[in-house]
Amino acid sequence: IYILAIESSCDDTSAAVLSNKKVLSNITATQKIHEEYGGVVPELASRAHQQNIVPVVHQALNKANIDKKQLSAIAFTRGPGLMGSLLVGTSFAKSLSLGLNIPLIEVNHMQAHILAHFIEGQQDGTPEFPFLAMTISGGHTQIVLIKDFFDMEILGETLDDAVGEAFDKSAKILGLPYPGGPLVDKYAQEGNPKAFPFPKPKVDGLNFSFSGLKTSILYFIQRETAKHPDFIQENLKDICASIQKTIIHILMDKLKKAVEETGITQIAIGGGVSANSGIRKALKMAEKNRGWKTFIPRFEYCTDNAAMIGVVGYLKYQQDKFSEQDISAKARYVLSQKNL
Ligand code: ATP
Ligand code: FE
Repeated sequence: IYILAIESSCDDTSAAVLSNKKVLSNITATQKIHEEYGGVVPELASRAHQQNIVPVVHQALNKANIDKKQLSAIAFTRGPGLMGSLLVGTSFAKSLSLGLNIPLIEVNHMQAHILAHFIEGQQDGTPEFPFLAMTISGGHTQIVLIKDFFDMEILGETLDDAVGEAFDKSAKILGLPYPGGPLVDKYAQEGNPKAFPFPKPKVDGLNFSFSGLKTSILYFIQRETAKHPDFIQENLKDICASIQKTIIHILMDKLKKAVEETGITQIAIGGGVSANSGIRKALKMAEKNRGWKTFIPRFEYCTDNAAMIGVVGYLKYQQDKFSEQDISAKARYVLSQKNL
């Protein structure tokens, strides 16, 4: 089975070709244009997708060495994401499926961040059901109980900002360009995580909150730069390390709680923030000290990519879960039973 997958939910245009669960190609055009605005500008994102989609799909087919006539189905991200961005991928996938007369398969982006672990060749292998997934990305922070490919239950999620936003907004306060998450990670690796203590939020159950942390970082920086104008430049690495440590503590505390409550010790993380070196280390420590079995995606399957859409496409193909031509994009598309 050959699946062509399209991902266009935010600011990355990505296309992949899979042979069953094996990735033959996974091409992503990232949009530089948003950097100067300090965040994704939806209107510019959809225009860039419009320009990128045809070349990206061509490249994916070429690299896989597959002719479009060999394709078995087209999978695409239906949501959640930015409407204008989703429309480009959705319309492209619908037209191509019509033109080639092959099935169309809609994919939930958050389900794909989790099921990315079923891509062939992941470094930690594939988890067994049931397992816990923690999706940590630019728009979401969730702990999800995964009973089967299409049977998932959200146990907790953020009440305000997503963890990726916490990274990006902290970076912005420090004057770093968008998206700042990877830069905070980079500087954190050379800094002292105990230099500046930040408060952790008190949130019930398995839910998260990150807006308070952002505010306390903002006030802290304002206070310190009022005293020493060069405070950020002189302490950048220590500030980043301290922020990163706090965020990782918040995530790990909730994971421990989820393990206690469910008795499940297989943990898979997914989404852009799973690229973070600190969380990757913390999980591997927990594997050693707590006897958990942890699954971390390969770097290229953490942030948005079409390969993860393709593997869900393949799993749906096997179960004849096809979509009709009248399907439309959904900006808000919750990970609930009826949406899988
Ligand atoms: P969602 O998946 O919730 O719809 P999204 O698709 O925009 O959101 P992803 O592409 O999954 O988000 O993740 C992007 C986020 O990951 C950004 O906030 C980015 O800063 C963050 N990120 C990427 N690499 C790192 C890193 N090494 N450390 C911390 N954050 C990171
Ligand atoms: Fe994503």
